Amino acid sequence: MARLSKKTPSVCTDNPLSNSEVNRKITLLSQILTSCFGPYGRLKQVHNTIGGHVLTTSTSSFLIQALNSSEPLLKLINASILNHVSRFSDCGLYVGILCLSLIKNVQTSDLRPSVAVLLNKHFLGLCTIYLKQEDCSCKVNIDLGDSRGLVTLARSVISSKPGCMLTKKENQHISTLAVHAFLLTVPNDETKETVRLGQTVTVPIEGQPVLDSAVFPGLMVDVPDILLHSTDIEGITQRSGPFRLALFTVSLSGDLSDLGLGSLEVHSGAPNPEDVVLDQLLWLGEQTVKDQVDVFMCQRVIHPVLQQYLRKCGVLTIERLGIDLIDLIVQMTGAQAVASYQTPVPPEAYGQVKGICVRTVGPRVLLHLLPSEETASAICTMVICHRNETMLNELKSAIQKAEHMLRLSLRHPVALLGGGCTETVLAAYCRNKGTNKAREASSILGVSQSEYLLGLHAYCLSLESVALALEHDGGTRLIDLTHAHCWYVPDGEASQSGVMEEAPPTCGCGMVERRSKPGQGAEPEWTLLNSRYPPFPPSPLVGDTSSGLLGTGSAPQPQVLDSFTAKLNALQVAVETANLILDIRCIIQDVN
Ligand SMILES: [Zn+2]
Repeated sequence: MARLSKKTPSVCTDNPLSNSEVNRKITLLSQILTSCFGPYGRLKQVHNTIGGHVLTTSTSSFLIQALNSSEPLLKLINASILNHVSRFSDCGLYVGILCLSLIKNVQTSDLRPSVAVLLNKHFLGLCTIYLKQEDCSCKVNIDLGDSRGLVTLARSVISSKPGCMLTKKENQHISTLAVHAFLLTVPNDETKETVRLGQTVTVPIEGQPVLDSAVFPGLMVDVPDILLHSTDIEGITQRSGPFRLALFTVSLSGDLSDLGLGSLEVHSGAPNPEDVVLDQLLWLGEQTVKDQVDVFMCQRVIHPVLQQYLRKCGVLTIERLGIDLIDLIVQMTGAQAVASYQTPVPPEAYGQVKGICVRTVGPRVLLHLLPSEETASAICTMVICHRNETMLNELKSAIQKAEHMLRLSLRHPVALLGGGCTETVLAAYCRNKGTNKAREASSILGVSQSEYLLGLHAYCLSLESVALALEHDGGTRLIDLTHAHCWYVPDGEASQSGVMEEAPPTCGCGMVERRSKPGQGAEPEWTLLNSRYPPFPPSPLVGDTSSGLLGTGSAPQPQVLDSFTAKLNALQVAVETANLILDIRCIIQDVN
């Protein structure tokens, strides 16, 4: 008998942002996300009470999935972050930190939420227009013909994941490999109008040094040891290619149960059906040998007699490939996957590999299929090694994100300066532009000038909060009053006046150098980040020594770069989500 309980009335929460419990949860989420941000972010350990896998990470997608909140406002923010990450892979923490900071700063500014929403939209528009301008000073072009920019982009993504536990040298090695793998997936065929990028197959190996990681063109296939040490392999690896390849997706086990459901009636005197199937399989083997096939591959099982026959004829036979590899083999070799053994294999179904060899990486021995030049395939294999499973998983995820960023840069070859500099430049630009146009813009928007300035301050503070979130060790973040870049001073080395005894040689992104030593020549002007400073337009990055700073714009070598596409979308998602939250007047929850 079904149990029925009486419907409980829905719970309505009026003006949820004024609720202290909701605010406590928002602050907690903000603290968690901020503490994970950037290359020095603190790791979080995620595990459940019933045991199982323990995850050590600072990656937003893993964290947000683990943070199951029942609070509707937090669910909304988490969904926005996950949606952004599912499309762009990177900048998930950025979305969360900026969104929560905007909500907090609007709350402390005492602005009416409806006015704040209007103003946030307006300032987002200012930022977006500025970022898309040619002379935007926090943007650099990526030269796809020079791998340095691509390596910097990949390194910035990978180093922002401290869970990978990489040394500087390991980080450089992995970033270079990620770019190498990405370049191998870009097809050489320039004649086609649409370019289809290839794929990188990842082979993770646990317990090996990171520096053993490597990239190979083509595919690495796991095959049984017995085959690797057989004369078949020796025979083919000593010959020069190319080799003809046949690929089957149908089971060649000869097992009648593979024919499908139903009963089989055999008249007395008729041949044994299993013998008939084996005859067909052997006929297929004879045909492929006659067609000079060198490699015979099957997704499933191959009958031992057929295997023995093929081996005797010098054909390398590989079975049980699994479904995941089939598409990749088709793409790489140009073969067509054959789904029947009863009909002859059409000649166009055969594919080609340039060469075959055996590779040993750590404890793993793999069969390496080299792509044929004729198929112009863009498949490569990246072998990733790390000391333990947790670090290996984090590294694998970071490399996938870096690959995604590199692919985005192919479509739109520009990047934004990292290290907090884009945020400080944007904040300075908005502050200056907004202050100059306050009277005009406030009357167009229908708000008072003081409301406009309050909203502007809250918005700029929120952008600067993202740059401040990079700090985890008690150091100080400063902004220079010339180029508006972000500078880091270790704990205890910055004086309150903003003059630094031990100034760093460059800003966070590495594009602005400190020209003069302390006490010599013009002293640059700095101010503490998140403080009030007089509005000024950020100077373009060209040689300018009058301020004591040198923008290295003539030969830009940024040290940290972020994906333009991912960050622009993150900025939009963060502001739109904050506006949505600020706009919510009432939450209606069904409790049973
Ligand atoms: Zn900078």
